[in-house]
Amino acid sequence: MTSIEQLLMQVEERQKELVDLAMTLIQYKTPSPPARNTKEAQDFIANFLKKLDFSIDQWDVYPNDPNIVGTLRGTDPKQHNSLIINGHVDVAEIDENEQWDTDPFEPIIQEGHLIGRGAADMKGGLAASLFAIQLLKEANLNISGDLIFQSVIGEEVGEAGTLECTKRGYTADFAVVVDTSDLRIQGQGGVITGWVTIKSPTTHHDATRRSMIHAGGGLHGASAIEKMMKMIAGLQELERHWAVVKSYPGFPAGSSTINPAVIEGGRHPAFIADECRLWITVHFYPDETHEQVAKEIETHLRKVAESDPWLCDHPPTFEWGGSSMIEDKGEIFPSLEINPESPGVKALSRCHESQLNAPAIVDYSPTVTDGGWLGEAGIPTVIYGPGDLQNAHAVNEKVQIVQLVDFTKVMIRFIYEWCNTRKVSQGEVTVKGTLGKSLV
Ligand SMILES: [Zn+2]
Repeated sequence: MTSIEQLLMQVEERQKELVDLAMTLIQYKTPSPPARNTKEAQDFIANFLKKLDFSIDQWDVYPNDPNIVGTLRGTDPKQHNSLIINGHVDVAEIDENEQWDTDPFEPIIQEGHLIGRGAADMKGGLAASLFAIQLLKEANLNISGDLIFQSVIGEEVGEAGTLECTKRGYTADFAVVVDTSDLRIQGQGGVITGWVTIKSPTTHHDATRRSMIHAGGGLHGASAIEKMMKMIAGLQELERHWAVVKSYPGFPAGSSTINPAVIEGGRHPAFIADECRLWITVHFYPDETHEQVAKEIETHLRKVAESDPWLCDHPPTFEWGGSSMIEDKGEIFPSLEINPESPGVKALSRCHESQLNAPAIVDYSPTVTDGGWLGEAGIPTVIYGPGDLQNAHAVNEKVQIVQLVDFTKVMIRFIYEWCNTRKVSQGEVTVKGTLGKSLV
């Protein structure tokens, strides 16, 4: 039998196989939007896992966009830690004006980098995780706990492929989302989008404006567009208030933001605008929930409305989140706190440090991933993957091949160590909401 040290040396020797695997994944064109194009890539991953004795659960989240969950039963799963490895198979869209040096879906190698759409976000991470599992299996190294591999769809447009996995009951003692983190071990703040709508029960002709706004006019009506200006001012006020009173270690002050991203309203110049809708993006801290920040915004805007002679009778309405930026124009990425003292984070840090001879950095991602959904399902979770955010979604997206190799090695160590560690007793299990505070 191969030892773990011999196996780690094999990663160097066989790195061409790793790069070929990443290139194969990149060649499957899975940009989202337009989405509904991941079936072939997912079939490839399912077959890859099947050959390594995983049982496969495959289901359509949307037509032609199936999720894949592969499970490799451990030899003693009751007593040993289970692990979820999660990654998204969709990649950022390619804008037709993007000036790539080469075809984004025909990856190339240049100066130690793999270049192609998804190299950093995150087909590199998927390929390296799959390769780590392949090497462990081929070496017949014993894995005592269950290993669950989730290849999900829809992350780039807020479609909760990962949420569907947790709804289906998949859970584990620890989860690693192998998304872009430059080999930092990360949690995240959260994001929720929402629509604020102002709607008049009556529609008025443009020629009635004088009677609506001037002395003696007598028409108690309003332009929904003008009333939305008050809402926007209210949001700015609340955003500034948050910047003053809210904070979280590791985040620059004022990271909780409310962006008025899209506005639509009015019918035609011959009418007073009877409806106006504002689409906002809200970023919040790791110790906040999307429900909580949505409520804070509603409460504040209702108070603003109460002080207005028309809005007090016609208050704004709210729609929060959604299941897809494509389908229902909304998304939620729950936040994810990280506790450096939790067993999973400690074990991963140890593997990173001993393999790469460098300190493990445990911090927060400035962006959002599917990690929040796993955390919200009560699974201690981190983001840890190759590639950096400058490259995610970028023209000529690239990842360092040496980082793919390093990541593969750390994952081999970590899977082997974690899944062969006995489960901690119930009392020591961490609970979401206390992470990062007073646990130890
Ligand atoms: Zn990603």
